[in-house]
Amino acid sequence: MRIIDFHTHAFPDSLAPRAMESLTAGVPDWPAYHDGTIAGLLRSMDIAGIHAAVIANIATKPSQERPILDWSKSIQAERIIPFISLHPDGEGHDALLDEAVEAGIRGVKFHCLYQDFVVDEDRALRMYERIAARDLVILFHAGRDPVWPTSEDASPARLLRIHRRFPQLRMVAAHTGAWRMWDEVAEHLAGEDLWLELSFAGDVPDEAWATIWERHSPGRYVFGSDSPWTDQVKTLEQVRRRLGDEGITAQVLESNPSRLLGLNS
Ligand SMILES: [Zn+2]
Repeated sequence: MRIIDFHTHAFPDSLAPRAMESLTAGVPDWPAYHDGTIAGLLRSMDIAGIHAAVIANIATKPSQERPILDWSKSIQAERIIPFISLHPDGEGHDALLDEAVEAGIRGVKFHCLYQDFVVDEDRALRMYERIAARDLVILFHAGRDPVWPTSEDASPARLLRIHRRFPQLRMVAAHTGAWRMWDEVAEHLAGEDLWLELSFAGDVPDEAWATIWERHSPGRYVFGSDSPWTDQVKTLEQVRRRLGDEGITAQVLESNPSRLLGLNS
């Protein structure tokens, strides 16, 4: 099986040490499981038996959009599928997205809490419209975050509003729909025509999971680890345990993400 991890992070070698230091500062409960480099990620993937990984970039300011696109173009490979990132205060998004599509980039990642906007505010909707027009995938950070444990800025209700506004937009909600807002995932997102990325599925309370699973199509899940913030081996075990059925597991680990990314397998 060619397992695809739909949610990982890595940084250019020159930035990785500093990025990892600042991202782990202040959240002692969240150690890193690789060194933040592409080589570190690939080593972790080899150990876990993961074939390919989506790298979720995050532009915390407009000036990062360009270097993220350039780096993404330079690291693209069979096993490395970088998603670029846009910032709502950035300019020239049409040209940037056209260049990304031309280069074979398959998606865009947003983490509105780190990017300092509310996921469904108007200036963000303008970005989603451009992304939908180009049929790129959006990976949304969803729900709370260890750094913003009470934020509602990336809530399932807000994500549903985006889906209703752009039903053709191929959107993926990370962390099993929304980290630590899983009752709301069951209420607002389960059963909708959007994808749930299964990182932290092992932490979803059984009752919420049962409702999500009952309502949401098996064809609309993808596996993700959020590596380096989790151990890919353990995350994979948790997801396999959650899904149980072998056929469905194969679908979630391989065929769903491969189809969503337009990979020829
Ligand atoms: Zn992440």
